[in-house]
Amino acid sequence: MANKLIHLLLFIFCIFNINVYAETPVNSWRISDLARSSVEKIKLRNGQDRILKIVSAKQMVYLYAVMSRVVEATEINAEVIIVDGQLANAFVFTTEEGQSFIGINFAMLDILDTNLDMAAALIGHELAHIKLKHGEISKKNIALIQGKDFSAANTRYSRDNERDADYLGVIWAVEAGYNPDGAVALQEALYKVFKRTNISGFNVSHPSTIERLTILKSLARRLKR
Ligand SMILES: [Zn+2]
Repeated sequence: MANKLIHLLLFIFCIFNINVYAETPVNSWRISDLARSSVEKIKLRNGQDRILKIVSAKQMVYLYAVMSRVVEATEINAEVIIVDGQLANAFVFTTEEGQSFIGINFAMLDILDTNLDMAAALIGHELAHIKLKHGEISKKNIALIQGKDFSAANTRYSRDNERDADYLGVIWAVEAGYNPDGAVALQEALYKVFKRTNISGFNVSHPSTIERLTILKSLARRLKR
């Protein structure tokens, strides 16, 4: 079931501004396979047959259902895969054939648990990056700002992209029938995790996390009217 991921990667977006610490996933499993499991506790193994994580079939079925509904709202050809990784992260990439994959790593899986609204917000957010063509824009930006202060400019571009993806992602989640508070709950849960693990780079992204939360809370309030 596990397959090599690296050669498939064209574009990757992280949901948080902690790219310095982002791990490169090695193994991946399709949620469409996992949701069909006949056992309740599914053992995810690497190529050497070592068990990397045990996930519940119930969680996989829930995620598959959320994925199907949100993907339908976005009209993007996409599928969710589970990848290894101890630092909560999610990303999206598109193959040359036009198939998009949303990667959710082990640590993010633990945060989502069986919260459907949080999963819908996460999947919506990642797909919004595709719809808003952030991959192409960031490639252009990199070309434009060569020779200038790359890291500062890049941080600002990625923060703008994250804000836009949050916005469209929540709207899609609501369209798919989920509660917009899921996006708020997801940001709050991640905020707690990153604060607890005391990642030194977290202070850099701290103000934008607070800002994202504020924007998401007011958007959720408006969408529930
Ligand atoms: Zn993002």
